[in-house]
Amino acid sequence: MCNILVGFLFRYARYAVYIYSVQQLPSRLIEAAVDQIATLPGIGRRTALRLALSLLRRDTERVRALSDAIIDMSEGVSPCRVCHNLTEQDTCSICKTPERNRGLICVVEDIRDLLAIENVGTYRGVYHVLAGVISPMDGIGPADINIAALVSRISELNEETEVIFALPSTMEGDTTSFYLYKKLAEFEIKVTTLARGIAVGEALQHADEATLARSMDNRTIYEI
Ligand SMILES: [Zn+2]
Repeated sequence: MCNILVGFLFRYARYAVYIYSVQQLPSRLIEAAVDQIATLPGIGRRTALRLALSLLRRDTERVRALSDAIIDMSEGVSPCRVCHNLTEQDTCSICKTPERNRGLICVVEDIRDLLAIENVGTYRGVYHVLAGVISPMDGIGPADINIAALVSRISELNEETEVIFALPSTMEGDTTSFYLYKKLAEFEIKVTTLARGIAVGEALQHADEATLARSMDNRTIYEI
C-alpha cells in the first residue's frame, strides 16, 4: 500500500516538474507575451507559447500590423447606445436604418447570434444584445447583463411592440427568458420566443427526447 502511494507521489512529482519546466522560458519578454496571450478564452499556456513562437518568426512589420489592428479595434469599437450591437459610432447601422421596424425587438445573448439572424436576411426588426445570460453558477445575475436597458427601451414604445426572445435553449437561456418575461409583464406588449423543434434536415430518430417533445407541443397547421 505504502509502495503504491510512494509510486503515485513520485509520478505526480515528475509531472509537476514537467509542467514547471514548460513554464521556464528563456526570456522574460517571451514569458510576458505568453502570459498575455494565455489570458484569451480557450488558450492555455502551451498554445500561448506556440503562438508567441510563431509571432517571433514573423517580421516586425507584420507583428506591428497585428498589434495595431487589435489596438484600433479596442479603441474604435464600442456598444451601440440603443441595442448594444457593436459599432464604430454612437448608434449601430441596424438601429440607424429607417426601414427597420423599431417596434419589433429581437433579444439575443451576444453579437454572434445577431450576426446569425442577419445572415438569414429576412428579419426586418431591430435587436437588443444582452451580452450574456443569467447564470447563478457563474455568478452572473440580471444586473450584470443589459436587462435594465431593455426595460427602459420598451417603456418608451407603444403596445404595438413585439419582443422576440431568441435566447439559447439551455437552463441559463430559459432562466433569462423567464426573468425577462416577468420584468416585461407590466407593459402591454406581445412577447414571443423562437420556435424550438426538429432541425431542418435532421432525422426524427436522431432528435433528443426534449426536442421531440417540444416539436410535438409546438406543432403547426400543415400548409402548402
Ligand atoms: Zn443598435
